[in-house]
Amino acid sequence: MYRRQFLQRLSCVASVPALAQAVAMVAITSTPPGLRKGQPVWRSDPFALGVASGEPRPDSVLLWTRLYPGAAQPGYAATAAEQAAHMEEVSGLTEDQYCVVSYEIFDHESLTKPIRKGEFTTWAARGWSVHARIEGLRPDRRYWYRFRSGQAISPVGRTRTAPAPDARVAALRVALASCQHYEQGYYSAHTDIAQQDIDAVLFVGDYIYESTNPKYRLRSHTGGVPKTLEAYRERHALYKLDADLRTSHAAHPWVCTWDDHEVDNDYAADQDRAYTQPGVFLARRAAAYQAYFEHMPVWPGGPGGAYQRIHQQWRWGQLADVWTLDCRQYRSPQACRDPLRGGGRVVLNCDERDDPARTMLGAEQEAWLAQGLRTASGRWRVLAQSTQISSTGIDTPVGRTIYTDGWDGYAAARTRLLETVRDTGAKNVVVLGGDVHQNVAAQLRVVPNDTQSPVVASEYVTTSITSRGMGTGALDRIRASNADIAHARSDERGYTLIDITPQQVMATFRTTPFPAQVGAALGVQARFITVHGQPGVVPA
Ligand code: FE
Ligand code: CA
Repeated sequence: MYRRQFLQRLSCVASVPALAQAVAMVAITSTPPGLRKGQPVWRSDPFALGVASGEPRPDSVLLWTRLYPGAAQPGYAATAAEQAAHMEEVSGLTEDQYCVVSYEIFDHESLTKPIRKGEFTTWAARGWSVHARIEGLRPDRRYWYRFRSGQAISPVGRTRTAPAPDARVAALRVALASCQHYEQGYYSAHTDIAQQDIDAVLFVGDYIYESTNPKYRLRSHTGGVPKTLEAYRERHALYKLDADLRTSHAAHPWVCTWDDHEVDNDYAADQDRAYTQPGVFLARRAAAYQAYFEHMPVWPGGPGGAYQRIHQQWRWGQLADVWTLDCRQYRSPQACRDPLRGGGRVVLNCDERDDPARTMLGAEQEAWLAQGLRTASGRWRVLAQSTQISSTGIDTPVGRTIYTDGWDGYAAARTRLLETVRDTGAKNVVVLGGDVHQNVAAQLRVVPNDTQSPVVASEYVTTSITSRGMGTGALDRIRASNADIAHARSDERGYTLIDITPQQVMATFRTTPFPAQVGAALGVQARFITVHGQPGVVPA
């Protein structure tokens, strides 16, 4: 098997035309001291995890790949030493070596002549990952790229730059996606995304799942619940070995934030559900974050280890300012927690949720966002974050129940955010989310569901790529208790196309029934629009 793949690779390399000598080679990274140069000779395909791009700016994009030797023992989580030995066996590369991965950028899909060539230096401690930021590109252009290591050449990826900040842009089209539990379905939604004519994928969290649920298992995670760097690496590698997911990454740049399952279900800052000592949990969080960045077209924003900035502001010409937010790293622990088991739960009459000291974004990110909302000049202001902002409480004869992991559990923080939106006077704020495994279109008011409180923003939440949603009975009760929710469906999987033009934002929920099958065709579940100057969602 390896031999046949290797020969295919060789013939692939041989068919590549001679590279234009006029193009300057640029070394992007420096080498850590003490490592010597290795020259890999691959016995398997090092690009089995594919290629990806992200962080589209007017003059740059970030290109990603990771040299992956295959699992040391398929179906079993290898130790770091076993994985290192496997790398040496497959490539000759050792832990005291670095190696150079070269790349080429093209401005035409014919790939006849690269407009740029460069090299990225990588080594074992960074998981042999590659993050090449390509600068000096032209705005609002498509580019194609590929990597090379030794004799091996990667698949070709396609990406694009953002328009110039002052450009008049007619349209921005993104695929909003989240929640892709590997065991609970196949990634047919990603094949559909790959085929769409979109500018970017906006992924708002639960890229991997650390946990398992034997009830809904169509295929299996390997290696149990990850807690170490090596185990998180293997979990990410397993996901990227899925061809549908690789196709989606190769087709479009991704703009990403994370939610909880990239580390541990329902974690909040330095706390997990098991009330693990924060220092111990932070070591796990550092491992999970490192593996995340090693596998994603996202540059870790530092300062380092368990503390990494992922929230960013993006701009798409004069059409839109987009904020990707971090709703996990800085949040207060869930309100009214069970003393035996932390994390979120459904509670009745929890006053703690209204405590103004509680935060979802953390003081710094909250202030940064508020400042950004006040000064933004784009026609639309789009907040991309991991969960649902509109209320999902249920009215009962003895009071209203709420789910404490969502924004309902951070009611004062939600009020502050929506008051900021109201006070800016902007009527063009659209919030995008995921996490809840259901499609939602909702009105956002400072006081949820109170018709005396004007609608100040519009919310679209995407259903999951694969992860199972709640039962329809529970969702019916939520809808009956929340007049602000115009649409909610938890029974189907897929993603949401977001079409932004100067006149309107349209959300198209594209779905297939649960569980997502191999090659499933997606259809349109519903369409909603927000008209410029008129906050709120209306059926299209
Ligand atoms: Fe999820
Ligand atoms: Ca989640």
